[in-house]
Amino acid sequence: MASSPVPPRLLYIGGEWVAPVKGGSLPVINPATEKEFARIPNATSEDVDAAVAAATAAFKSGHWSKTTGAYRAKYLRAIAAKLREHKAVLAKAETMDCGKPIDEASWDMDDVATCFDYYAGQAEALDGRNAAPPAIDVGMAEFDVRVRREALGVVGLITPWNYPLLMAAWKVAPALAAGCTAVLKPSELASLTCLELAAIAAQVGLPPGVLNVITGTGPDAGAPLSGHKGLAKVAFTGSAATGRLVAQAAAANIRPASMELGGKSALIVFEDADVEQAVEWAMFGAFWTNGQICSSTSRLLVAEAIAPAFLQQLKKRAESINVCDPLTEGCRMGPLVSEGQYRKVLAYVEAGKADGAQLVTGGGRPAGAPGSSGYWVAPTVFAGVTPGMRIWREEIFGPVLSVATFATEAEAVAAANDSEYGLAGAVISADPDRCKRVAEALECGIVWINCSQPCFCYAPWGGIKNSGHGRELGEWGLDNFLSVKQITKYVSPDIW
Ligand code: NAD
Repeated sequence: MASSPVPPRLLYIGGEWVAPVKGGSLPVINPATEKEFARIPNATSEDVDAAVAAATAAFKSGHWSKTTGAYRAKYLRAIAAKLREHKAVLAKAETMDCGKPIDEASWDMDDVATCFDYYAGQAEALDGRNAAPPAIDVGMAEFDVRVRREALGVVGLITPWNYPLLMAAWKVAPALAAGCTAVLKPSELASLTCLELAAIAAQVGLPPGVLNVITGTGPDAGAPLSGHKGLAKVAFTGSAATGRLVAQAAAANIRPASMELGGKSALIVFEDADVEQAVEWAMFGAFWTNGQICSSTSRLLVAEAIAPAFLQQLKKRAESINVCDPLTEGCRMGPLVSEGQYRKVLAYVEAGKADGAQLVTGGGRPAGAPGSSGYWVAPTVFAGVTPGMRIWREEIFGPVLSVATFATEAEAVAAANDSEYGLAGAVISADPDRCKRVAEALECGIVWINCSQPCFCYAPWGGIKNSGHGRELGEWGLDNFLSVKQITKYVSPDIW
């Protein structure tokens, strides 16, 4: 068995490493080799109960929830510093766990640390927001109406495998900044770095029970967490199908559940675009992280006038991606995360062909894939895709780009909006008025003009329609974990 870069871990509950009550474990498979290189605990409802109990005790003690934001900020900055110190090991673990190229995994670790630093600042700012003079004028001088933002309580955080530690950071950092205590359940397909986050929490002396990390499958660990009566909120990132189950479980307890779900994002390229640059953004949007990003450009709408030149260039570039062992520096595409994901993506390739789309490139095992094992799919482009095809409508979550053409702006916008999803969209044109018009017309939570995919921790992230609701990142991410309290004081003695 190839050795793991991180030590074996148990569940992290109440500041202790504990074995799951039922003793189960799950294999950790390297998708580049299909070999098991570690095991993680498989938590069940008994462990979920213990984790929620530990988080509840920590919340009720007030040692975290009633502290100042400035106090909590020190811990968040200490976590960020440790993440940077251990960046190389964390990146290697993530690459072996989910197949992400090592350079990308390394940049992700920078983003994770930045996220903790950012929410340290937000925690400090929260003290100022709560101390601010009355913001509400009710038109009656005898009443002083103030708003106080308080930690919501114990929160359950359920995350996916595509950015294992980053998606966890987007929830853990703001939850802790707000003063909440948390139970994190990462994806069973990529849990290693989330367990390392628990180890870092222990190293920086985060009070026991403030952050608990349990690993396990969705049915065994995720379901009992999402329906747990001890939670004040569930924050979920994952597929729409699972999101529906999580939202229903939380709703049964009358608890809010924020939803960061899937997407089918469109990029519209107009005839006045610089083709070379537009192709680069399309490449980035479609193939970064193997197309396994919620906001990936999976639908490309290109103006009829430039479509032949655009497709020719796109094919050339897709075939030039450096696909190789993801642990090699300079690798730009590794394997898909799992056998299940691999089979799903290949089934979509077959569906595209069967539905009559034209396979421009890819569809099989890429030439650069080392050996004969691993879950590799070459960068794949389909042209002539029509709105009824499954590859145009359904989230594939792999390196498969569907291309269609359009004649008018109205046609392009209507085609982009004709989706059950509404996470992100992008427009490329030399005409700023047109870009503005299209940006305002696209039905989604994020729009990029003359680019695709940039993401900043101070800007809101999230979607509409089946892509979910609520926003992560920025102050919106913090507000997810705050309860707003109205405090009204009677200040005039002579009301009668
Ligand atoms: P998934 O829905 O299969 O799993 C997500 C998490 O839910 C995992 O931790 C899983 O164990 C857990 N889970 C599974 N069944 C559960 C149940 N019954 N109850 C509670 N939890 C359960 O998603 P995935 O395959 O891990 O991730 C890919 C999906 O995530 C894609 O659809 C992608 O678009 C989406 N995603 C969205 C965003 C965003 O910001 N909107 C970001 C990243 C990924």
